[in-house]
Parts: sequence; C-alpha cells; structure tokens
Amino acid sequence: MISDIGQEFGQYLIQLTSELFLRGEQPRSLSEIERSIREMLLKVGQFLLTTWLAMQRSKYPDETVECIYCGGQAEYQYQRPGTLLTIIGQVMYKRAYYACAYCRRGHYPLDLRLGLRVGKMSAELESLSGMTGTQIPFEKSSQLFEALTLISLSDHSIAKATQAMGSEVQIQETEWKELSKDVDWLQTQERLTERPKRLYGSMDAAKVHIRRKNEDPWKDLKIGAWFTTTAKPPQNPDENWKIEAQDMSYYCDILPAQEFGDLLWATGCQHQAHLADELIFLGDGAEWIWNLVSHYYPNAIQIVDWFHAAEYFAPIANAAFPDEDQRQEWISQIRSYLWLGELDAVIHECQYFCNHPQASTAARKAFTYFTNNQHRMNYPTYRQKGYQIGSGTIESACKQIVTQRLKVSGAIWELDNAVKTAKARAAWLNGDWQSLSSRRELLPLAA
Ligand SMILES: [Zn+2]
Repeated sequence: MISDIGQEFGQYLIQLTSELFLRGEQPRSLSEIERSIREMLLKVGQFLLTTWLAMQRSKYPDETVECIYCGGQAEYQYQRPGTLLTIIGQVMYKRAYYACAYCRRGHYPLDLRLGLRVGKMSAELESLSGMTGTQIPFEKSSQLFEALTLISLSDHSIAKATQAMGSEVQIQETEWKELSKDVDWLQTQERLTERPKRLYGSMDAAKVHIRRKNEDPWKDLKIGAWFTTTAKPPQNPDENWKIEAQDMSYYCDILPAQEFGDLLWATGCQHQAHLADELIFLGDGAEWIWNLVSHYYPNAIQIVDWFHAAEYFAPIANAAFPDEDQRQEWISQIRSYLWLGELDAVIHECQYFCNHPQASTAARKAFTYFTNNQHRMNYPTYRQKGYQIGSGTIESACKQIVTQRLKVSGAIWELDNAVKTAKARAAWLNGDWQSLSSRRELLPLAA
C-alpha cells in the first residue's frame, strides 16, 4: 500500500518537475524560480493531503456505527465527497456517510475524528488567517495572507476567521465566569500554596465607532489587564517610565460597567487576584473603575495613574499664563507638589484658578478630580514600597487594541464584530493564540 503510494507520488513529482522546468526554461530571476517552486509545493501538499485522507477511509466500512445524536444505530449509506479549504489549498476527499433510522440524522465519523469542516476553513487555515486579521484591516489582511501563503481568501472570510477566535475567547470567558462563581472551585484555589506576591490590575476604556441609528455611535470598549513587574518605579517624574510588565494578560468588552465586573472577577480568579498578598490597581479617575475595584477587591491598593493626574495641569496653565516661561514654571511647581504627595497644595493651586476668567473651566475640573482622588495619589508612599504608579501598560493596551486595529481608516463596526475582533486581538497580544486554536481543532463536530 505504502509503496503504491510512493510510486504514484514519484510519478506525480516527475510530472510536476517537468512542467516546472518546461515553463521556466529561462527564468528571469530567482524570485520567479521561488514563486514557481512555492506553487509546485502547494500541489505536492495537496497530493499528500488527498492521499493521506484517502488512507483514513476504510475500504470496507462498518455496516453500522453508533449514532452521535441519539445513540441508536446508524447505518452505512455510501461514500460521500466533500471539499476542504486548507492552508495548502482546496482538497477533495470522500468519506463514509451513516444515517440513523431513529432520529433521521446523518453523520461522518471521519469528519468527527479529524475535525474536518466540509466547505469551511480548516482549523489551521482559520487560525493563521485570523491571526493576520488581528493585525491589520481585513481587506489588507486578505492581500497579505495571499502574498505569504498563495491561498486566496476574501476579506469576509478573514473577518470570519478572526471573529471565530473572538467567539472562542467568549466561550472561554463564560467558562471562567462559571468557575469564578463555583464555591468548590474557589475553595480549591484557596488551598493552593503558590499565591501571587504582588499582582497589578488596571482598567481603561477607549471609544470605538459602532454602526448605530439615532444614538451615539461611539461606544466604550473597556479594557482590563493583569500583570506583574519587577521594574522599580522611577525616582523622578522625568525619568524613563517604561514599565516592563510580565505575564501581561488583557481582557476587553463593550459592556456596561456592572457586567464588565463579571469579567474582571472571572479573569481575576484565573490570576488568583483575590488571593494575592498585594493587589495594586492602576487607573485614571473614571468612577466606574474604582467602583468595580472597591466592589470586587476591597483590600486592593488603588492608585491613580501618575500621567493621567499630571495631564490636568497643562490646560490650566495654557489658559492662565500667556507667557511660556511662566507656564512651564507653574506646571513644574505643581507637578512637584503632586510627585511629593502634597495634595493640599495641588488642590489649593487648582482652587486658586477656579474663578480665573480664562482658566476656570480647566481649574474646576482639576479641582474636582484631585479632591475626589487624593487618597489614590499618595505617590511618595507608593514609590517607597516599590509600586508602579504609571499605567503605561493599559494605555498601551488601548493603543494596541483600539487605536491600531479598531480605529484604522475610519472603520465603522457592527457591535458584535468589534467585540470579537478586539477579543481576538487581545488573545493574540496575550500569547494565547495557539491554545485557543487548539480548542477549535476538533470543533466542527455535530454541525
Ligand atoms: Zn440517531
């Protein structure tokens, strides 16, 4: 059997080789040779895949098998052809078809065993094309994917593949949510001896353009992150602030805060956030963030991101001082108050400008902000304990997920597609792509 195949393969190779050399007797460049060989290799791959699948098909199929739907007896009918879309192109194959007399449904044991998705993308093709879809707009992904693999897919197909991974993230999150409410599971977690010593959480939101009639089309995509870091906080505000976060893990959704809280808790349980010796949350001043943190993690240390806080000064200075030097001097003074945790002085400065003819709007905003958040701005203490005080990490999540992918070239999204694409991109950034793909390998099943 194997030697027959070998012979057949040999002949096919000879045929392909002579075609190759006849066609390109005098190639113009190495590129032309490379392209021709790549095309040939795809054909070789298709031959091997077809043969491999044919080998999986028994010459004498069982007369009956158990029906996958009702457990009754399904009878062999005939060999039915199907088409697979794979990373090496389209491949036709045949497999035994069984029909059940009881529930009147039919199935293909081979498809189930290997996860063959007839007429649809294979799991491998879906995973790889979806990966390009998380990087750049679908139309561009389609061009890039074809250039790299010689497999042509429509932008719609790439979008579907990307969003399929997003759906997989949603399924996983649902499992996590169930676990996070399961008392037995939580108790097992508590018995674990290895607990995180110092874990960081952070949350933020960015606007995504959603197709909507008669309502605001800009929806908040809320993003959260869990991470650890061994980096020391900077010693002065003008130092280099690169946080080297480790084990970064993002989650995101377009949901009201309360429902997003379920996801915060569920992903937190996966990181044992509730069991960490020290749990530190970084965020901007947004109320929903601190409400969620206080609700789920009442013992967490809450820190307002230094950069968010420091951003409040420039608008006041710009409105209050026509002179550039004066402006810089004032900003530098108030920034150092903030850095040293002298919140009374910061608040006092803001208050001073609350009745200023030009600066009052910015000053009032800042006054409220610093008054409400002063207990989250004890920066000298945080620095002393070695806590990070700038959430460059989550800022960059917004940039990486929203700005770089969801906001490109004025895209307007369907809500569901935006959420799934964002989740797929987060999964890719988290390094979870491979494990998610594996979850989908045997999925076609009872289709
Ligand atoms: Zn049945």
